[in-house]
Amino acid sequence: MTAVPLLATDTLNLEMTAGDAAALRIDVRGRSVNALTRQLLDDLDKSLDLLQNRADLKLLVIQSGKPAGFIVGADVHELAAIDSSDKARQLSGRGQQVMHKLANLPVPTVAIIHGACLGGGLELALACDHRLAVDTAATQLGLPEVELGLIPAWGGTQRLPRTIGLEKALRIILIGRRLDARSAARQGLVDDLISEAPDLATAQPFLEAAMQQGKCPRLTLPLQTWRQKVLESSRFGRGLLFKAFERILRGRVPDDMPAPWEALETVRTGMRDGFDAGLAREQEAVARLAQGHACRNLIGIFLGREEARKSTPSAEPPVTRIGVVGAGTMGAGIIELAALKGCEVAVQEVNEEALGAGIMRVAALFQKALEQRILSQEDFRRNLARIRPTIRWEGFDKVELVVEAASEDLEVKRQLFRELESRTRPQTVLATNTSSLLVADLQEGLTHPERVVGLHFFNPVHRMPLVEVAHTPRTNTRSVEVAAQWAAGLGKTPLVVKDSPGFVVNRILIPYLNEAVLLLLEGVDAATIDRVMVRFGMQLGPLEVLDQVGIDVAAHIARGLGPVFGDRLPAHGAFQLMSDRGWLGAKSHKGFYVHKGKRRKVNREAISTLRKSCARPAPLAGLPAAALATQARERMVLLMCKEAFMCLQEGIADSAEVIDLAMVLGSGWAPHRGGPITYARQRGFQAVTESLKTFARQLGQRFEPIAFGPNP
Ligand code: NAD
Repeated sequence: MTAVPLLATDTLNLEMTAGDAAALRIDVRGRSVNALTRQLLDDLDKSLDLLQNRADLKLLVIQSGKPAGFIVGADVHELAAIDSSDKARQLSGRGQQVMHKLANLPVPTVAIIHGACLGGGLELALACDHRLAVDTAATQLGLPEVELGLIPAWGGTQRLPRTIGLEKALRIILIGRRLDARSAARQGLVDDLISEAPDLATAQPFLEAAMQQGKCPRLTLPLQTWRQKVLESSRFGRGLLFKAFERILRGRVPDDMPAPWEALETVRTGMRDGFDAGLAREQEAVARLAQGHACRNLIGIFLGREEARKSTPSAEPPVTRIGVVGAGTMGAGIIELAALKGCEVAVQEVNEEALGAGIMRVAALFQKALEQRILSQEDFRRNLARIRPTIRWEGFDKVELVVEAASEDLEVKRQLFRELESRTRPQTVLATNTSSLLVADLQEGLTHPERVVGLHFFNPVHRMPLVEVAHTPRTNTRSVEVAAQWAAGLGKTPLVVKDSPGFVVNRILIPYLNEAVLLLLEGVDAATIDRVMVRFGMQLGPLEVLDQVGIDVAAHIARGLGPVFGDRLPAHGAFQLMSDRGWLGAKSHKGFYVHKGKRRKVNREAISTLRKSCARPAPLAGLPAAALATQARERMVLLMCKEAFMCLQEGIADSAEVIDLAMVLGSGWAPHRGGPITYARQRGFQAVTESLKTFARQLGQRFEPIAFGPNP
């Protein structure tokens, strides 16, 4: 029997297949991945209506028509367009209605999942009776709504606990944890794994089993394991679990970030008062969250990132052959990533020894990727074979782009660019990964300076999403476009900025890190300094950042940028003293903290030595703890806001959005606050100016306010 078409729309295709099964294939036209748009919700609704009363129907199978995956979640553009609490409530209600219809279809339903099955995609799969997942590294299941300042609001907060248990569900809903196919199977989120690309023939035995099992309404917690029986079967046990998660949230969730708390209360409501009460709370929670600053800012960052990755078109074919000069910390990371993305990589080092050490570094990074199942053994070998080590520039005559990642020394780099000019073809783009030198200084004396560009990766390369692409007045557009397009191809977000010391991120970070050290020298606890900034929303506190970057590296950058800041960066001698004592941070196991594996404690010896040798007046002494913490945070945050506006006024980036995005992606700046410029705007320029003025009177010129425009 051939398939009988029932419905074909721009988002899905529904047909009856042999064996009285309906196959619903989701394939949103014009997109590389499926997002759960309003249109798709409407079309799902129509499909379910068509199937509702079919006497011949025995099974519904839902899968994606996109090779890239199942459904990545709700359409973020549609979320961004929600401009009232009522509209947010309505969208939640509409999604709940469709999921309810799916869950209550009279026949068994199966979702076949491959690739990303996130957010609304997983809520749809949860409304099915059975789930199959393709066992590849690309398969990922999760409810990451809290990362956008929202909560799952199409029934996910109610169906997930009833499918896999309360504790496991809270980990996914509150913390945004994603599961790969095998973990999902272990946790009972999917019923079975299949190894092949999902077609109905491969899945046939599973579909027959699903048909046999019939409907599987999940009305109560599953209570499968001993732990679940002990903890989740009684109101008291569940109360303990909720208390434990409250503690986790208090430790992890920054101030002014309500979504995880709303999610917790919504799950609790459903457990206490029943499924429908839980659904009602989902609607109320998104109505509250959708118009808040945190949600608007997180959605803004998401879309800004998407825009930046799209807006780097280049007429040139993608770069496939590159050269990397210097295989140290940064070079090795860039080599690994480029090879992983299919580039042939020529690697130049100073001598055999440095070359060997560099290749070992790259191999260690591949080994990690292998252990994390990002790479197969076969890919591991293939990727290593793409790397051509040399100390005589072999292969550089064929590359399309070079990234120079040699030591941060102007003369070394200048010499290298002269060498590169003669070793590469005239159209090869020459990029530097410098953190503090001017790209313009490396162009000097070259015959073709127009092909020199900054390509500033962050450490660790495989994890940090930002690359600053810096141009000078002499750099041509082609070089910027080729470099940005290549960086986007590596999965990074390239942001184009003007050549200037420290570009955007280091320029704004240095005054902040310096202020953290001044606070420490004034007698404020290291732990307090870091804690207030983590509570603000920074990924790491400033002293932890300094330890990770390396005190010597940070000091080198600060020295390089010194002339830009002048009096805005008071000297204190702490970095020099720490470097002299070998307290370089995590790499030497001692910095502001003593590092033991993943654990660390404050380095009391270093701090008391610093306070003796580099003492500063103590304006915060005697303040109660809470006031001291607020003042410390204000000083660090406001200096970044001020520096960010200065970057904007100097035209280092084209827009406030670029600066904000650069800070969030490049420095782990509190994403729910949208970046330093958005933060200042939301707080009110008047209030920010007043605070700066007060600090300027007490602490000097570095706090002198600048003119914050109403519309910078
Ligand atoms: P590193 O000291 O770990 O590595 C530098 C490598 O360059 C060494 O292996 C060295 O042998 C090699 N090298 C030196 N001179 C060379 C030459 N003439 N020819 C070929 N190779 C040469 O340094 P790193 O931390 O990887 O930094 C490299 C660049 O990246 C610097 O410009 C730095 O400012 C920048 N950067 C560093 C970080 C970071 O956190 N480490 C972050 C962003 C940018």
